Amino acid sequence: MDRQSRIVILTGAGISAESGVPTFRGPDGLWEGHRVEDVATPEAFARNPALVQAFYDARRARLADVAPNAAHIALGRLDSAWPGELLIVTQNVDDLHERGGALRLVHMHGELLSAWCTACDTRHRWQGPLGSFPPCPACGAPQLRPDIVWFGEMPYAMNRILRSLARCDLFVAIGTSGQVYPAAGFVETAREAGARTLELNLDPSAMSARFHESRLGRAGTLVPALVDELLA
Ligand code: NAD
Ligand code: ZN
Repeated sequence: MDRQSRIVILTGAGISAESGVPTFRGPDGLWEGHRVEDVATPEAFARNPALVQAFYDARRARLADVAPNAAHIALGRLDSAWPGELLIVTQNVDDLHERGGALRLVHMHGELLSAWCTACDTRHRWQGPLGSFPPCPACGAPQLRPDIVWFGEMPYAMNRILRSLARCDLFVAIGTSGQVYPAAGFVETAREAGARTLELNLDPSAMSARFHESRLGRAGTLVPALVDELLA
């Protein structure tokens, strides 16, 4: 890679695991004790808003107790030092990339620290709980929901992401199981654009065979090493 190379990096729950944020599907197939259909779909929210708000309220509150790990910090270092185009696309809803110094970042699945008013369609930075249905700061309606892209909803920034993928030279996927679309298909789009593709993951993922290279190990070790390589 020369220093004008265009890089797209996709991250998933695995990059935050060493910070103590649980990944998506544990060995029991549950996400922190819940079935995905019970907490991460618009139908679940319509059926049981209190349960869904409580689930995300707990995760939002826990952000105060976790810190970015060596992988987030290495990507922040890459972002500030890389002279070429770079886009970090995260599926994560935590704020650990920001706290690790990443600026060229998009949250394709939304953010815990944002609330979306379904009455007036505005979004607000949000630190506290939503379970008591506080009034929207813009219109006053008690209709704020987590600004999270649930299953069946359209991810954010897809045009920008697809544009970057279509012209990238290097695509790196970090800590993602390759089971959630459209993110799982990004490796294909990057390959069609002629990019080199690299996966960093603890275990082989559903998409490993689609990458030119897979490195197995912990993100906290593999990501700083990759960034050193790129900046050498
Ligand atoms: P996933 O949980 O399906 O997969 C995580 C992957 O990371 C697995 O392949 C696992 O082997 C790997 N992994 C675990 N520990 C690792 C480590 N220390 N280093 C490197 N890799 C490691 O996650 P996903 O693919 O991101 O899909 C999950 C969905 O759930 C996303 O849509 C995301 O929005 C949401 N989610 C987000 C968070 C978060 O914000 N931190 C946490 C859980 C789920
Ligand atoms: Zn509103």
